Amino acid sequence: MSPRTGGRDDAGSTAALEQRWTAPNYEPLPVTLVEGRGAWVTGDDGTRYLDLLGAYSALSFGHRHPRLVAAARRQMDRLTLTSRAFRNDQLGPFCAELAELVGMDGVLPMNTGAEAVETAIKAARRWAYRHRRVPPNRAEIVVTAGNFHGRTTTIIGFSSDPAARHGFGPFTPGFVVAPFGSVDAVAERVGPHTAAVLVEPVQGEAGVRIPPPGYLSGLRALCDDRGMLLMVDEVQSGLGRTGRTLACDHEGVRPDVLVLGKALGGGIVPLSAMLARREVLAVFDPGSHGSTFGGNPLACAIGREVVAMLASGEPQRRAAHLGGVLATALSGLPPAGVAEVRTIGAWAGIDVAEGLPPARRVCEALLHRGVLVKETHGHTLRMAPPFVITDEELRGAISGLGSVLEELAR
Ligand code: PMP
Repeated sequence: MSPRTGGRDDAGSTAALEQRWTAPNYEPLPVTLVEGRGAWVTGDDGTRYLDLLGAYSALSFGHRHPRLVAAARRQMDRLTLTSRAFRNDQLGPFCAELAELVGMDGVLPMNTGAEAVETAIKAARRWAYRHRRVPPNRAEIVVTAGNFHGRTTTIIGFSSDPAARHGFGPFTPGFVVAPFGSVDAVAERVGPHTAAVLVEPVQGEAGVRIPPPGYLSGLRALCDDRGMLLMVDEVQSGLGRTGRTLACDHEGVRPDVLVLGKALGGGIVPLSAMLARREVLAVFDPGSHGSTFGGNPLACAIGREVVAMLASGEPQRRAAHLGGVLATALSGLPPAGVAEVRTIGAWAGIDVAEGLPPARRVCEALLHRGVLVKETHGHTLRMAPPFVITDEELRGAISGLGSVLEELAR
C-alpha cells in the first residue's frame, strides 16, 4: 500500500501478492520500492524517500553506486558462476586485496553474514581440537548477551532474543553467554574447553550498543593470555560504518577471526567472508566446508571494487564526517522525545522516550515525511545512512524526526 495515495492495496497489487505468497516472517513498513539511486529510493506511486536505514549497513555505498554497478556489468558479460569445483580469476585477487585491506592472513568467502559466522564457529572448534587439545565435541565459545549473528539454527541457539529462538529448539550446545561490555564477565566464563570469544564490537541489531572504551583491547589481551581466538563479527560495523575500516581499528585490535558481510557485496549481491590467521584457515581441508555460490566471480568482482573504494580511505573519512553531522543533529532532538542516543560514525541508535508510542509509529510518521528508518526491539530507531547522503539531506531528515517526536510527545 502506498502511504501517500493510500491506494493500490487491491488483491493484485505487489504488496498483496507479497502478503499472500510469502511467509509472514517480516513486518515491512507500508511502502513498495521500485527504484533506488544513491541515498534515495522511489516508491511505486512515484514518491521519493531518503533511505536512512541503508539495508542495515549493506547499502553503505548507496543504491546502485556507479562504480559498483559498472564492475558488476563488466563481470556479468564475462563469467558469473563456476562453483568451487573450478577456479575463477576473481576469487584469488579478491581474497588477496580484502586480506590486505584489513590486515588478515587470508579469506574464506561465503554469501550471507550468518554463513560466515557459522564458518567462524566451525573454524574455532577444529582449531581448539587441533591446537588446544580440547577433548572431542567439548569446545566452547563465549558469546555476549544481546548478540545478533544471524538466523541459522546454531546461531539462534545462543541468541538472547526470545522472538528469534521461540519454537526453534533443540539448540546446538557449546556456547556460553556473558553480559556485553565487560571483559571480567567473559574471563569468568572461560574454562578449559573455551576455544574462542565471539563478539560484535558494537551491537547493531541490539540498537547500536557501544561497549566501554578498552573492551575490545581487553578481550584481545584476555584471549592472548588464555590461548583463545578472538572472533569479531563486523558484518554490520565493518567496512567504513564507524568511520574506520573496521570498528576494531578504533582500539588498534587485530582479531584472530574477522567476519564481514553486508556492504562487502556493494548492495548488489550477498557476499560475506571469514578472514583469519593462517593457522585458523588451515583447519579446513577439502570437503570440510563450502558453498556453491561462495567466492563466485560476480560477487568477487563487486567485492574487489568495494575493497578498492575502501583502500582510498574516502568512504571511511566520509562516514566519520557524517558521524559528526549525525551526532550534532541528533543532539537537537526534543528531550521529551528521546531517552538515549548512541552514535559511532554514521551509525545511530535512538531510544524513543518512555510513554511515547512504539518506535514503529515513529517510523510510519517519518515514512509520510519521505524518510525511511526502521525500529529495532520495540522502542529503538536505528540509522545506517549510505555514505553518499549529503550533510543537508541528513540534517533535514533528523529535523523531520524531531518534528515527529515533538508531535508524538504532545
Ligand atoms: N552479524 C551481524 C553483526 C549482523 O548485524 C547480521 C545481520 N543483521 C548478521 C551477522 C547476519 O547477516 P545475514 O543477514 O546476511 O545473514
